[in-house]
Amino acid sequence: MLLDQHSLFIAIGVSCTALAFTLLATWIVARSETYLLTWSTGLTLTVLALLFYLGIERYDANYQLVTFTLLILGFGLIYRGTIQFCAHRSSWTVTIAATALGLVPTVIAFATGYTGIGTALANFAIALLTTLAAHQYWESRSEAPLLMVTNALLYLMTAASFAACGYVLLANGQYVLTERPSNWAEEFNSLMVIVGLTGIGALSLTINQIRTTNRHKSEALTDPLTGLLNRRALFDDTARAVPQNTAILLMDLDHFKTINDRFGHAAGDRVLRVFAEVIFSNIRAQDVAARLGGEEFCIMLSSSSPKAASAVAERVRSTLEGLTFQTPEGIIRATVSIGVAIRSTEPETLQAMLNRADAALYRAKADGRNRVHISDFHLAA
Ligand code: GH3
Ligand code: MG
Ligand code: MG
Repeated sequence: MLLDQHSLFIAIGVSCTALAFTLLATWIVARSETYLLTWSTGLTLTVLALLFYLGIERYDANYQLVTFTLLILGFGLIYRGTIQFCAHRSSWTVTIAATALGLVPTVIAFATGYTGIGTALANFAIALLTTLAAHQYWESRSEAPLLMVTNALLYLMTAASFAACGYVLLANGQYVLTERPSNWAEEFNSLMVIVGLTGIGALSLTINQIRTTNRHKSEALTDPLTGLLNRRALFDDTARAVPQNTAILLMDLDHFKTINDRFGHAAGDRVLRVFAEVIFSNIRAQDVAARLGGEEFCIMLSSSSPKAASAVAERVRSTLEGLTFQTPEGIIRATVSIGVAIRSTEPETLQAMLNRADAALYRAKADGRNRVHISDFHLAA
């Protein structure tokens, strides 16, 4: 034997304690990530189980049962944290059911004196919880294939090592124990817990970091009021050439200052949010919509035609015209003016198209507002 079991347990305790602290510290600076706290609590229970186990000199069935209870509860919490992490939901029902399924038979076996069977059942219980955790990671593999699948495999191997401990006891007919089991499965299990839990912890923190970075990126490109893209997202590079059959719709709400003045800024915000929904329900998945600032919006249609682009513009205009907004100060009716530019057959930059759409919007305003004006691209070309 490479290492004695006592040393292995100390190694597990040290690595789990370090991981529990790391997760707790990460949770303190990111409180919304509840799974970090759940995992940390789960690991703390497993460390407590180990301390209990190491602290007892002689084999004692009652102390063994306390150790296994703490371990099963700890792994139950680790499984729950995995549901929160992977499925972004929190289900106590599933966690409690899976934990109880393992815990109840273990307690019954110990209570009836079958300490060997109880020990085997406790190991199977933890194998079940870790297999369920592996399944969570497997189901989430599309988010980060390599990291998620590696986590699933580490959990599966950990599960296999616990199952092996249970299997060896039953295969050897050790239904009643008078001393702690010591066999190849126990060694495999100790090593697997060190490798598995620390590996999973490090990989999960990496995924957490990737998520945070992606969220910051997407927040930097999103308009917080409407959820549409912001100006930066759409116009990061206005010198770029626009693909053929692209249409740009520039939209500006009419007399919006008057709406704010008469009905209040909050009511104005409501109109902006509803208008964003109107835009969103009139575009396809491949189109993009942005709030450029204030009451100005833009839609970029891809693979469009002059007919289709003016139809979208007209639908957006008439939908808003048909809406009414109830407020304590009375009913708001809002309208929008839209300038449309469709890419000519000649190559054209985004800036050139925006200029044409802007000129068309200016015409729509000058012609009396609440209308769509299409830029004549033959003139512009
Ligand atoms: P026009 O028909 O010529 O476009 O007139 P307008 O009043 O819409 O245009 P103007 O540019 O004079 O006013 C735009 C108003 O939009 C002024 C500003 O108070 C308001 N506004 C800008 N951002 C927001 C916002 O986030 N929320 C609200 N409620 N109002 C905003
Ligand atoms: Mg404006
Ligand atoms: Mg306006």
